[in-house]
Amino acid sequence: MSEFNPEDTLIAVLAGLEVKVAEIQRELRRLKALARNLEEENTRLRAWLTEAASEIKGEDKLRLLYEQGYHICPAQFGRVRSTEGCLFCHSFLEKRG
Ligand SMILES: [Zn+2]
Repeated sequence: MSEFNPEDTLIAVLAGLEVKVAEIQRELRRLKALARNLEEENTRLRAWLTEAASEIKGEDKLRLLYEQGYHICPAQFGRVRSTEGCLFCHSFLEKRG
């Protein structure tokens, strides 16, 4: 049997947990603020991209945008796409081209 360690009393353990929970809450607040900022920035960038693309007339420019890794299909326009490509973007390009 191990010796009784006053550090291990339930109250001490709970106090330790309370400190950790407070740290986690602080980190959570920080990450939520960061996520909010990133969402706002993303919204601004997508609005800018949509506006910029509306000024783009040529098929080649849309294709270029797609090749640079962005969706050009109406449902996901301006979002970063996966490297595998997007069927909707492809059919959108085919319809226009
Ligand atoms: Zn797409």
